[in-house]
Amino acid sequence: MEVGGAGKYVYPAADLDRAEGEAIEALKAGSQQPISDPDRWLDEELHRNMLLTTVDAVINWARRSSLWPAVSFPACCAFEFITAEASRFDLSRFGMEIVRASPRQADLMITAGTLTWKMAPNIKRIYDQMAEPKWVIAMGACAISGGIFASSYNVVPGYNRIIPVDVYVPGCPPRPEALIYGIRMLHKKIAKRSLLQEG
Ligand code: SF4
Repeated sequence: MEVGGAGKYVYPAADLDRAEGEAIEALKAGSQQPISDPDRWLDEELHRNMLLTTVDAVINWARRSSLWPAVSFPACCAFEFITAEASRFDLSRFGMEIVRASPRQADLMITAGTLTWKMAPNIKRIYDQMAEPKWVIAMGACAISGGIFASSYNVVPGYNRIIPVDVYVPGCPPRPEALIYGIRMLHKKIAKRSLLQEG
């Protein structure tokens, strides 16, 4: 019904009720099934990407993938270590490119060189100040046993006289490949650790 001029309509209440009822019935007829979850794909993605492991495995992986060596290289084996750090051998692929000047930021000592008793207290102090857990690789004959200087009155016949050694890398000097092999051995050793050992 048109009232009050062109464009103005007033509907009877019964017509409004009917129109509303028809709209509701139409919606009801088209809503017999629930709408599928639009995020169902998310559940499938999670199933495809779920990885179950242990806390030990994750922590050991993180630790062995970011060993930071302390600066403590008293003699000639140091040059093989420096070569191992350079681009051809590239220790950074093991997360080891950062050689820390502060022992408090290091967790690996690579004992590359002859150790004299005069230097021994300093090496022990560096080791004591390193962060726990920490590891030691004895690199070269001098580090393992004193090497060709073993009978000298002033040479420590092996770093294991003053600090615990985890891996021994023989040679005079060992080549970078040998050092990398020793580092891989240390990785395997770290992978077997458990938090229960740390009390
Ligand atoms: S093992 Fe050989 S290369 Fe290494 S520090 Fe001793 S003498 Fe030098």
